[in-house]
Amino acid sequence: MAPPRTYRCEGLTLRKAAIGEADLVVTVFTAEQGKLRAVAKGARRSTSKLVGHLEPLTLTRLSMARGRELEIITQAQVVDSLPALKEDLPLMARGLYVAELLDGFGPEASPSPGLFRLAAAVLRALPGAADPETPLRYFEFHLLRLTGMLPELYQCVECGSEIAPGAHRFSVNLGGVLCPACSPAEALMRPLSLRAMKVLRLMHRGSLSETAALTLNPSLAAELKSILAPTVRYWLGKEIRSNSFLEQLQNERRPGTGAIRGQ
Ligand SMILES: [Zn+2]
Repeated sequence: MAPPRTYRCEGLTLRKAAIGEADLVVTVFTAEQGKLRAVAKGARRSTSKLVGHLEPLTLTRLSMARGRELEIITQAQVVDSLPALKEDLPLMARGLYVAELLDGFGPEASPSPGLFRLAAAVLRALPGAADPETPLRYFEFHLLRLTGMLPELYQCVECGSEIAPGAHRFSVNLGGVLCPACSPAEALMRPLSLRAMKVLRLMHRGSLSETAALTLNPSLAAELKSILAPTVRYWLGKEIRSNSFLEQLQNERRPGTGAIRGQ
């Protein structure tokens, strides 16, 4: 049976670009269809009913018609504009990081309800988290899981032996932990402390709210970032632009005051 000519879906706008005189091309991540690109005709005219509904980092309900190359957005209704992210530059940079990873990893034309729910939940958790970096680590971990690259945390990825408490390494490119006896030549390795291993296992088994409530000391937070962010970057196969933007914002922040340093 041919797919329906029109359909409705839930989407998260990842980015938009102007096209033609008044149109927009919007990249949306949807629960029903994965990543898709759609044109919103006339959406840049101030009189368009689509104005303001297709901003990046907005959760929407969309009515779509199948087009020859791009889908056509016929209606859009904001479900959650995620205002807390848009009012705070560091939070917005973190939201854009989530959007960029979805854009890079999200399957096209393939139902992805788990990934959609994960992204929406992480974006909503960012403003209230004990440290807004922690939901990003949860996102990276479960993005890997949902795209078939779940980090192995229980058995050595080289010899298969069960990992006992002690000194471990994590291999970014072999996809998990290595026991003390294994050091394959091709492995990109990072040290992995016992406490970082415990947090990774909690992320694996636990919920986003449990993870977002964790208060991690700065060295543990940095260690988790040094494991998960490069793993995601490795599998993505390119630098993540919004991450550099976020790091730049963090470097400009004067320690202790939270103020942005002037030029
Ligand atoms: Zn081993």
